[in-house]
Amino acid sequence: MRGIAPVLVAGLVAASLVACAPIESAEFRVVTTTTQITDFTEQVVGESGSVYALLQANQSAHSFDPSARDLLELSRADALVMNGEHLEPWVDDAIAASGFTGSVIVASDPVSVQSRDGVVDPHVWTDPKNASKMTQFIADSLSQLNPDRSDAYRRNAAKYEQQLSLLDDWIRGTLDQVPAERRLLVTNHDAFTYFVSAYDITLVGSIIPEFDDNAEPSAADIDALIEKIAQTGVRAIFAESSIAPKLAQTVAAEAGIQVFAGENSLYSDTLGARGSGADTYISATIHNVSLLAQAWGVAPLPVPKELQNV
Ligand SMILES: [Zn+2]
Repeated sequence: MRGIAPVLVAGLVAASLVACAPIESAEFRVVTTTTQITDFTEQVVGESGSVYALLQANQSAHSFDPSARDLLELSRADALVMNGEHLEPWVDDAIAASGFTGSVIVASDPVSVQSRDGVVDPHVWTDPKNASKMTQFIADSLSQLNPDRSDAYRRNAAKYEQQLSLLDDWIRGTLDQVPAERRLLVTNHDAFTYFVSAYDITLVGSIIPEFDDNAEPSAADIDALIEKIAQTGVRAIFAESSIAPKLAQTVAAEAGIQVFAGENSLYSDTLGARGSGADTYISATIHNVSLLAQAWGVAPLPVPKELQNV
């Protein structure tokens, strides 16, 4: 009997490993909304599972129609990770239509929100410090829901938060080369409240002066903006990758200043498509800040090694 005991034990261990393997990650399904939320969630989940993204690059989060496949994935999901603060007004309908019964993780929960005229700006992720809080919150929430993977979630989140901290340092170093009174920004829609307050930038105006990119500016709004551009000495208008740049081009031409559009747009509500060089939160933010530096006449600091190709 003594002779076979170790074999039996080894056999039992092997059997239990095999039995355990499929229970982890593969069976824990996570669905995400925006491209930024997808990136933060994928950073947390890492190799330990897969994430199904509802929104693809260049889609607006403010208005979205889930496909039949999206609803199917949602119906099977254990968790839905979303931004919140009314960025995704279509989510309640999608949850009802799919019959989703999992847990909803609202990633903006730990962020202190800013509002104007009583309306909260939902674009909280544009400040990397908020991105870091959101990532931490996603990791904590997923850890509670799927404790088997909590070590991996927390380890992955900690590593990503270090990168976000380096990103924040790099942005600060790059923009500090420009005197604060010259850090003037005009964008397409109001998507950068948190970014501008983090880096002491003045948002002179937006072509669509609303947090929602579906709104239409009036002729009087446009005239007022052109007047403000002339008064403040803004050097450039930035279009956004998710919004047609025609109005931005018209305003820039009338104001006699430069317009950054097309490949030189800012990434606001969406990250870039795969292969664009801006398909992650970190690379899209580096893209944005490099453009701002260029418009303000300074060179971006060298990008730290840890932030290259991530
Ligand atoms: Zn937006």
